[in-house]
Amino acid sequence: MILKDRNDIKWQNLLLVLWGCALIFFSKGVNAEQNNDKTSSQAISQKSVTEAPKPLEATRHKEKLWAYKRKHFNTYNLKDEMEIGRRYMNQQIGEFHDKKVPVDPVEWQPIQKRIDGIVKKLSAVSDIPQFKYEVHIFDKKDIVNAYCLPGGKIGVFTGLFDEKKGLIDLKSDDEIAAVLGHEIAHATMRHVTRRMTTYNGLGVLGSVLSAGVTQGAGDNWGYMTEQVFNVGTSLYFPSYSRKFEKEADRVGLYYMTKAGYNPQSAVEVWQRASERAKNKSKDDKTSFFDSHPASGERAKDLRGYLPDAESIKKEARLRQIIRGEIDESAPEK
Ligand SMILES: [Zn+2]
Repeated sequence: MILKDRNDIKWQNLLLVLWGCALIFFSKGVNAEQNNDKTSSQAISQKSVTEAPKPLEATRHKEKLWAYKRKHFNTYNLKDEMEIGRRYMNQQIGEFHDKKVPVDPVEWQPIQKRIDGIVKKLSAVSDIPQFKYEVHIFDKKDIVNAYCLPGGKIGVFTGLFDEKKGLIDLKSDDEIAAVLGHEIAHATMRHVTRRMTTYNGLGVLGSVLSAGVTQGAGDNWGYMTEQVFNVGTSLYFPSYSRKFEKEADRVGLYYMTKAGYNPQSAVEVWQRASERAKNKSKDDKTSFFDSHPASGERAKDLRGYLPDAESIKKEARLRQIIRGEIDESAPEK
């Protein structure tokens, strides 16, 4: 019995080994087949690339279009963003009240309403429509500027519309949309908090500060914001790197086009900026020309983005048609 058992075990072992070999052989065969499949599918896809390049090109184009939406490391959340903006706007308005600078003056109300309407359209098509967008007019004719704080609080200086020294034509909604689209893009691309995150050194301090933002305190808070805002002039313009300026130019152009404004106006505004910047004094640290150096290169870059902007507009329209928001026969804006 014992012997028979041993023999049985031997046979069982042999069968197991054979079964294992068969499995390995079979799986290799399958793998080889799969590899063949891959190679053949690669061949087909390569073939289709040469025969019909359009779909792949379209995909690449689409990827390029949305590249700006890639995720960025940020230790702040959208609630923090809105709190930062609210605080700085309150501080700004408070300081202007003390200095008797008119904020939201009655005579500017019709224009403020118009600007509100433009901001509404731009923010609706932006990447963060849920921010609490709000426009304030500061009657300071010596300052040619506008900004959008984190979270969507917007300040517009009346000097922006000055016929000689200003930058944009008050009568043109397209031009207003070009400048505000750019400023809103700084907020939706979260440039201030991305910069603050970098300062925090991989966000270790960020979590502390983030808590401080909502609790309303912290010495670090003052230090941090001094690095990001141009303080010292009692004007709270955020300052941005060239990289962020480029991003805001491009994204702002997409927003204004999607919202139905003429993107060509952005090119014209930046062309004008490069001409007017030549006359600005070196000490002028408060103007748009100082925070937005324009050498003609920006206008050139924007011109290159015009076809992308049109594609985005078409895609947005298509989505609206699919959702039943507009009829296919509705005229394109
Ligand atoms: Zn900018």
